[in-house]
Amino acid sequence: MASNAKYESSAARPLWMQQVLEREGGDDRPPLQGDENVDVCIVGGGFTGLWTAIRIAELEPTVRVGVLESDICGAGASGANGGFAMTWWPKFATLKKMMSTDDALRLAMASEKAVAEIGRFCDNNHIDADFVPAGWLWTATNSSQLGSWNDTIKDLASVGATPFRELSQREVLEMGGSERHLGGVFEAGVATVQPAALVRGLRSAAIAAGVRIWEKTPMLDFNVSSQGVKVSVPGGMVSADQLVLTTNAWLARYKEIRRHLLVLGSDVIATDAVPERLASVGWTPGLAISDSRRMVHYYRPTNDGRVVFGKGGGRLGFRAHMNRSLWATPLRGPQVIDQFRRTYPTLSDVAITNTWSGAVDYSSDSLPFFGTLGGSERVHYGVGFSGNGVGPSYVGGQILASRALGRDDEWGTSPMIRTPQTALPPEPFRTLGGHVVRAAMRSKESSEDQGKNPSRLVRRITELDPTSFVG
Ligand SMILES: Cc1cc2nc3c(=O)[nH]c(=O)nc-3n(C[C@H](O)[C@H](O)[C@H](O)COP(=O)(O)OP(=O)(O)OC[C@H]3O[C@@H](n4cnc5c(N)ncnc54)[C@H](O)[C@@H]3O)c2cc1C
Repeated sequence: MASNAKYESSAARPLWMQQVLEREGGDDRPPLQGDENVDVCIVGGGFTGLWTAIRIAELEPTVRVGVLESDICGAGASGANGGFAMTWWPKFATLKKMMSTDDALRLAMASEKAVAEIGRFCDNNHIDADFVPAGWLWTATNSSQLGSWNDTIKDLASVGATPFRELSQREVLEMGGSERHLGGVFEAGVATVQPAALVRGLRSAAIAAGVRIWEKTPMLDFNVSSQGVKVSVPGGMVSADQLVLTTNAWLARYKEIRRHLLVLGSDVIATDAVPERLASVGWTPGLAISDSRRMVHYYRPTNDGRVVFGKGGGRLGFRAHMNRSLWATPLRGPQVIDQFRRTYPTLSDVAITNTWSGAVDYSSDSLPFFGTLGGSERVHYGVGFSGNGVGPSYVGGQILASRALGRDDEWGTSPMIRTPQTALPPEPFRTLGGHVVRAAMRSKESSEDQGKNPSRLVRRITELDPTSFVG
């Protein structure tokens, strides 16, 4: 496999990574040269891989763990995202479809606990990741979106769970500082983070716990035998007892995963730092906000007074494969800027300083799935976080650590170890169909923004879309 280094220089990295790398002042781990032996080899230095490594080190400190990262830790989605550390409460209905109600409740609670644990971990390990537990405003920016949360709230009420608080229009306005928000609900268990500071902090914590990390070291291939796994890299080889693949959207290279994975771009912009202007808008510091469209708009203030504003449902990767365009300048940058300015008209004159885009691994049922690759009990993977991985990757780390250590505990037997029931169509139908569905989605959402009803055909086509930020 060719190296998937995505950025030629640090200036081309997302704002978050630029900020952190500047602070670090250059601290790359050298590439692996020669042959190495570890007990567990993890491939992919994002949140999922690093939480897995840290969890193994906590559970069994004598187990030798090595992480291979093709670029630098955080170079994937973990250093490029919106920084919403969310729970699985908005996805409760989907959880319940695939497991018992008790299991669904347990997992949703675990995802909420994960957000708090991330904050605690940062405190205990002196990670300055701007963790702000200010909650999430799930809102509507046109009348068609109003009440999008009703079914979720009803479903949750039927099992006695009340993670969301319904808000008056006035409260919505006061919290989010925008008259574009017509209604909404608030979830207190959500936090915002500076994601690159978190992932680089996890890297330091992992190293401190004895984990070995090799950066600029792409896994080329691996071979499994009765003795173990051999992972080849350009400068040598790692022998391990267990292999854990946490390469996120890059896992689409394996057919058995690609059948359940859709890789889509997400586009992000960031403004200049204008803390006084943000204060005058009245946006609650750290509050995460998203609207209720499928091509979701997500936005949050940063601790240094910028707005980071993103839009999901972007470019489609052919055969779900990663390609450079998914990490290039956002095609929809002008649209995202326009949406930001319409949402916060009083900030229209604030300069846009950064734009970037990244790949999101949507599973066919919008929740992650975990398993073993090629029927080998030595090769584990976790993927499909579907635009909601900042918080849930902590849970993913617990699952993968237990799997790699062969533990039959709550995590080693989690119902998230599963194959999604829906398989996506093969190429070229997948990409062609994806383009048709996305065109229909654009048409539907633009009609709704103009207060018009989309045609029935357009609505029917959009229902084929398996990806969802919530629901
Ligand atoms: C623009 C954007 C906005 C998002 N916003 C949010 C949000 O606000 N909230 C939220 O919860 N989620 C969000 N997400 C999703 C979230 O970022 C991911 O779910 C999460 O970061 C996944 O972490 P990961 O460790 O699984 O993957 P990654 O961080 O992508 O890590 C995978 C790593 O594997 C490495 N790799 C790939 N191939 C190889 C190889 N062959 N050998 C070695 N290493 C390899 C890559 O370089 C990469 O560093 C967003 C994603 C994007 C792209």
